[in-house]
Amino acid sequence: MRICTIASRCVFRLWIVCVALAASGVSLYGQAPKPATTTKAVAAGRPRLVVMLVVDQMRADYVDKFQGQWTGGLKRLLTDGAWFRAAAYPYAATETCPGHATISTGAFPASHGMVANAWWDRDEQKMVTCTSDPNVKNSAYAGGATKGGDSAWRMKLPAFAEELKFQTGGATRIVTFSLKARAAITLAGHSADAATWADGTTGAWVTSSAYGTMPFIEGFVAQHPVTSDYGKTWALSLPAESYLYNENATGAATVEGWTTTFPHPLRGKEGGKEPDSAFFEQWGSSPFADTYLTKMAEAAIDSLGLGRTGATDYLGISYSTPDYVGHRFGPRSWEIQDILVRLDKDLGELFAYLDQKVGKGNYVVALTADHGVAPIPADMQKTGFDAGVLSLPELSERIEKALEPFNYPKPAVARIAGNELYFAPGVYDKLRQDPAAKKALQDAVERTTGVAGLFWAEELSGGVKSVSTTRTAAELSYFAGRSGDIFVLQQPYWLTDSSADGSKRYTGTGHGTPYYYDQWVPILLMGFGIKPGEYFEAATPADIAPTFGALTGVTLATRDGRVLSEALVARRGKRPGQ
Ligand SMILES: [Zn+2]
Repeated sequence: MRICTIASRCVFRLWIVCVALAASGVSLYGQAPKPATTTKAVAAGRPRLVVMLVVDQMRADYVDKFQGQWTGGLKRLLTDGAWFRAAAYPYAATETCPGHATISTGAFPASHGMVANAWWDRDEQKMVTCTSDPNVKNSAYAGGATKGGDSAWRMKLPAFAEELKFQTGGATRIVTFSLKARAAITLAGHSADAATWADGTTGAWVTSSAYGTMPFIEGFVAQHPVTSDYGKTWALSLPAESYLYNENATGAATVEGWTTTFPHPLRGKEGGKEPDSAFFEQWGSSPFADTYLTKMAEAAIDSLGLGRTGATDYLGISYSTPDYVGHRFGPRSWEIQDILVRLDKDLGELFAYLDQKVGKGNYVVALTADHGVAPIPADMQKTGFDAGVLSLPELSERIEKALEPFNYPKPAVARIAGNELYFAPGVYDKLRQDPAAKKALQDAVERTTGVAGLFWAEELSGGVKSVSTTRTAAELSYFAGRSGDIFVLQQPYWLTDSSADGSKRYTGTGHGTPYYYDQWVPILLMGFGIKPGEYFEAATPADIAPTFGALTGVTLATRDGRVLSEALVARRGKRPGQ
């Protein structure tokens, strides 16, 4: 389980100025919809637009707890849509990149290969992110700054959106938005008309040469700089008595310039007079970022005429902010409750916009999450239950010590990333022939407080063959060459901490385990071809892409997911939108 705090790579880093971005591209915004290259691409009885919505870190129980306070899009999904109440990821790697790749491909990490947000590259002997690509170059819209290159080249299966475009003659337009590259890219696939994300260090809106640029995005970003939200305040949306739990969540982490209680001003560092790095961090952790993504998606619907040019188009939006808020304030916070109230309003507006532009019943929507989240350990401890933080450097040290009598290279452990432990070259091969050293190592790991057990790579490879749910989960996450040599399983409610400073103990929380609080997410479907209702059948987010496939006549290669046929209108006869 990773803790996404300031010290780790999944942190929401600095958001730097895009004030000066407004200078270019204005005239390009608002271009007229392009006519479809072929009208026969839209067969009768298909939705005109497929909308994939992901709410990063949205636990399924939020729906049960908070739905009474929703009046907008989340409410409409529950009222007019199909609600799968027992949907969960069956695998261990409950992180953003694996989750989005699973949603988009309809397959699990053992098939699509996106085993984590980042993993240890054994050839390069360094960490690589799931989207880093040395052969492409990122570029920022509206004069913003960015660097590096990102694409879906490490994703071993095509996304549903790509299959849709390929199998319907190419007229489909694929457009995705998120604050995170790993979300926008995996939702889109290897190529797209537009995949847009925010640079984690400069705050600029970014794409890469794998996708190319879009004039309407250039115009939108120039006309709507993020800095125009400077000076706004995130205040409670509802009366204080409407919120569960404590105003000051136990163990909550702060965002620079904020306290752990409302209101949360977007004014950067304390005493700051203009947008600074703290402002961009605050913005990404506020409802204003969700609203921005929604408006950018509406600009795509309008400018490209999504759903109006004869083809079945694809729009993906991943709302990252609930993840940033959840990491800091935890699942039992006023902030999580409030961010969903605000998202409910945004989604209500988005659906109203789609009704107007595409037509009610002409589009199909799925909403799900990429993973859940654990309670903040300090908060869980208050119940008297065992919870804590497992220090990975300390675990590493114990392993080195256990191997000391056996003549192994030092260090024997190259890296522990979350649950994945990677040995230095040659160490694992040697251990296989050395039962005494292997046992000493295993004993050392298993005797560490907070560790529940471990699985060796050789136990996990070769597909699912286990009856243990946690080992099955690790098997479904195992991809040879990318996964670690050992999967270290912590106890429930324990986070891992990669900080080298043993004295640090984090506030905030994380996810990434095969425990149900990380796996259980909502699946909501609505619109074209969907039969409303509550469904209690087992489901996983890998079922969404095959279900979209059934609605659009598109075939996927893998069968990790299933068609959620119980929520589909019978195929015979006239169907909605026909
Ligand atoms: Zn996260």
